[in-house]
Amino acid sequence: MPEVYDLHCHSTASDGALSPSELVQRAQSKGVTKLALTDHDTTAGLAEATQVARQIGLGFIPGIELSALYANQCLHIVGLNIDPLNPILLDGIAKQHAIRELRARKIADKLQKKGIAGVYEAICEKSGEGEITRSHFADFLFQHGFVSSQQEAFDRYLSKGKPAYVPTQWATLEEVIHWIKAAGGVAVMAHPLRYNLSQKWMNQALAAFKTAGGQGIEVVTSRISVDEIRVSLQFCQRHQLHASMGSDFHTPDNQWVELGRFPTLPINLIPVWELF
Ligand code: AMP
Ligand code: MN
Ligand code: MN
Ligand code: MN
Repeated sequence: MPEVYDLHCHSTASDGALSPSELVQRAQSKGVTKLALTDHDTTAGLAEATQVARQIGLGFIPGIELSALYANQCLHIVGLNIDPLNPILLDGIAKQHAIRELRARKIADKLQKKGIAGVYEAICEKSGEGEITRSHFADFLFQHGFVSSQQEAFDRYLSKGKPAYVPTQWATLEEVIHWIKAAGGVAVMAHPLRYNLSQKWMNQALAAFKTAGGQGIEVVTSRISVDEIRVSLQFCQRHQLHASMGSDFHTPDNQWVELGRFPTLPINLIPVWELF
């Protein structure tokens, strides 16, 4: 039987709805045989996921999705096959955590100025031990009737240029790639078509990514069209990167995004798992 890889998803350690155990079990029930958990700026879910994956016989690859700044733009860099205990990576994660914490307070302050009070406290309770993300704010705004969908929360409050947007000084692209490589991992450019950037811009970013030691790019993700695959395939080939694929699964409530469910990788690409 061929392996079924899903190398990008989230648990309650960041903005996912399922615990690491639930996620690993769901992945297996959906036919995934090799799963990477890649929570936003945290490895907190990896120990539990590793243990449960071993128990149920699912292949597991420790991962992370790091937020990085390049030319004033936030890019997401997935680190795959990392050593979660590497001190350089842990130090980087601690810095990102402090940035997230401060940003969350600032977002809450901005919402308060818009007459929406008590958000920070509510979100801290909800996120528990997990990293706070803008998804948590979107959920709050939706659940309290300020917007009619998560998407509207981003469109009206949380996206760049909106009243509760906070510019964030994430670590640089070079720094996060350094952390991933120090931890023995492979750095992968996440969802290159989801930043709404021109192909010219993305080609520049990918050149910098490659120079800094980046090795992979997500060619296939959930809800990607044939035309979009053609573009990400070109990125992959032009920069001689290894090809990755992942659902970016967050919640069973989103019927359009499921673990293991996305088109197959185009042939002639070298899969990223050959580097593991
Ligand atoms: P953060 O890293 O805290 O800025 O949060 C980013 C997360 O918010 C992403 O990983 C998505 O899960 C979610 N997100 C970002 N933009 C949108 C959007 N326009 N609509 C819905 N969810 C979004
Ligand atoms: Mn997310
Ligand atoms: Mn992302
Ligand atoms: Mn993601």
